[in-house]
Amino acid sequence: MSASIERAAEVSESLAEIRSRVQAASSGSYPPILVAVSKYKPASDILTCYEDGQLDFGENYVQELVEKAEALPSKIRWHFIGTLQSNKAKTLAAIPNLHTIQTLTSLKTAKALDKALPADRLTPLNILIQVNTSGEDAKSGLPPLTSSTDGTSEVLRLVKGLITECPKLHLQGLMTIGSLEQSLHAAELDENSDFERLKATRDLLQEYLVRELGDAKWGEDRRLLLSMGMSSDFEAALKAGSDIVRVGTGIFGQRPKKTSD
Ligand SMILES: *Cc1c(COP(=O)(O)O)cnc(C)c1O
Repeated sequence: MSASIERAAEVSESLAEIRSRVQAASSGSYPPILVAVSKYKPASDILTCYEDGQLDFGENYVQELVEKAEALPSKIRWHFIGTLQSNKAKTLAAIPNLHTIQTLTSLKTAKALDKALPADRLTPLNILIQVNTSGEDAKSGLPPLTSSTDGTSEVLRLVKGLITECPKLHLQGLMTIGSLEQSLHAAELDENSDFERLKATRDLLQEYLVRELGDAKWGEDRRLLLSMGMSSDFEAALKAGSDIVRVGTGIFGQRPKKTSD
C-alpha cells in the first residue's frame, strides 16, 4: 500500500511543518497531542505519517475506520471524531486499537460502548464529550456549561452516568468544533469565543467533579483535556490552551467535497 515517492514526500513535508508549528504555538506544560485527520485519505498516506512517528489518527466514518484499522499497524491510536450513533457502538468497540472517542454526546451510546468493549481490553477507552460551543444547529454536541448551570445540565448528567455506570470508559475531557466564523473573526480579535466557552465548561466541570464526587483524583493531577483547533485555527487553539488539535487538510491536502462533512 505504499504511496508514490512524490506523494510520500509531500505528506511527510506537510506533517513536519504542522508538527513544528504545533510545537511553536504550544503554551502549556504538556506537549499537545496532534491528531492527523485522515478521513477520505488512503491508508498509504497514513502509513507515510506512521513511518515518520505519527501515532494519533482521526477518522469520521465507522466503516472507513474499521477497514483502515484492519489494514494498518496495531500501534496506531485511532480517534473517532465523527457523528456517533449508539447502533455503531459495537462495531467501534471491536477495534482493538481504538484509543479515544472524541464525540460522545449521550449516555445511551456510552453504555452501549461500555457493554460492547471486550473484557480483555488492556486500557479503558478514552472519552471526550462533544460540546456545541457555537450553538449552530448543524453542529452536534451538548450545550456548554455556564456559571448558572445546575446539576440537571446534559453535560453533568452524562458525566455522572459515565463515572457511575461505565467502568470501561475513561472521561478524558471535552471536544468542540468551533464555528468557521469565529475562526476567521478570531484572527482579528485575538479571541475565539468558542474556545473560551469550551475552557469555561472544562473549568466548571472540573470544579463540579471535585465538589460533588469529592475525590482527590479529580484535583490538580487529573486535569480534563481540551480538544479544539483544526487546520485553520490550531495555533490560536493552542494559544488558548488546547491539549489536542485535529489537523486534516494541513497534513493531507484538500479532501473531495461531501455535503455531509
Ligand atoms: C475533518 C475534521 C477535522 C479536520 O479538519 P481540517 O480543517 O481538514 O483540519 C477536525 N475535526 C473534525 C471533527 C473533523 O470532522
